[in-house]
Amino acid sequence: MIATNPPTPRIGFIGAGNLATSLIGGLIQAGWSPDSLCAADPADTTRRQLTERYGLLVSPENQDIVHQADVVVLAVKPQVMQPVARALAEAIRPTQTVVSVAAGIEGPALSRWLASTLGTPGIIRAMPNTPALLGAGATGLVAVNAVSEMGRSTTESIFAAVGTVEWLEREADLNAVIAVAGSAPAYFFAFIEALTRGGTNLGLPQTMAERLAIQTALGAARMASETDVPVQTLRERVTSPGGTTAEALKALQAGDLDALVRKAMQAAVDRAGAMA
Ligand code: NAD
Repeated sequence: MIATNPPTPRIGFIGAGNLATSLIGGLIQAGWSPDSLCAADPADTTRRQLTERYGLLVSPENQDIVHQADVVVLAVKPQVMQPVARALAEAIRPTQTVVSVAAGIEGPALSRWLASTLGTPGIIRAMPNTPALLGAGATGLVAVNAVSEMGRSTTESIFAAVGTVEWLEREADLNAVIAVAGSAPAYFFAFIEALTRGGTNLGLPQTMAERLAIQTALGAARMASETDVPVQTLRERVTSPGGTTAEALKALQAGDLDALVRKAMQAAVDRAGAMA
């Protein structure tokens, strides 16, 4: 018997703004053919750019793209998610997979909006963060209902093209992903700002302090991600007993950095719950 490879699934993006264009760029860079991708967006310039840049099939009509795709990524703003999903329900087949990237819109609502007389498609919620825009994202994924193997693996490929991917067992854990990753680039920005202000306070020019703080954040993140050495060991290695780093960390601990970060994350989780 001759083994045949399954056909490459086609991915359709509904809304081709910042996130979708980053995902499309990531997929093409990862070796996906532009023929396997298509996108709908009401903005003429957005569609023209995608055609000129990648030769992508585009349409101003969301339904056109849904008919072409095996996996449909809803990449519109949360405010328009409900009308967009409801308008597509009758066009979506139960064999398709729909991926929502909107924070705060929960599975039961998506299932209701996407249900039709034919049934409900497989639904996945994805929670990427903004570094995905430059290929360094961290995304949490959760299947809201029964999703085909094709749907799962294609969705994983989409987000793996712009960073790392974690599958969750429970939808409720997406709020924890928001606290640890979705909102967290801003925590690191705040820390860089604090380091910069501290450096300025100690007499460095502001721009120099900022450059040093940014490069140090980048260096620390690369050290943590590019070796198998646990982060705790990395911290201990740069903390000589009685040295400058030890004194600085002691001061951070005296201010209970851990408790402060936990409190900030709980605030993010509470807000995500309230927005749902
Ligand atoms: P964006 O505004 O850049 O893109 C949204 C696109 O949707 C626009 O191109 C717009 O023309 C299009 N659009 C508007 N109405 C439409 C409709 N009825 N049908 C089809 N397309 C329509 O926004 P974005 O930053 O790409 O975010 C998209 C979604 O991704 C949001 O739900 C956001 O919360 C989520 N998200 C974004 C990021 C990020 O880093 N940008 C990270 C995590 C989650």
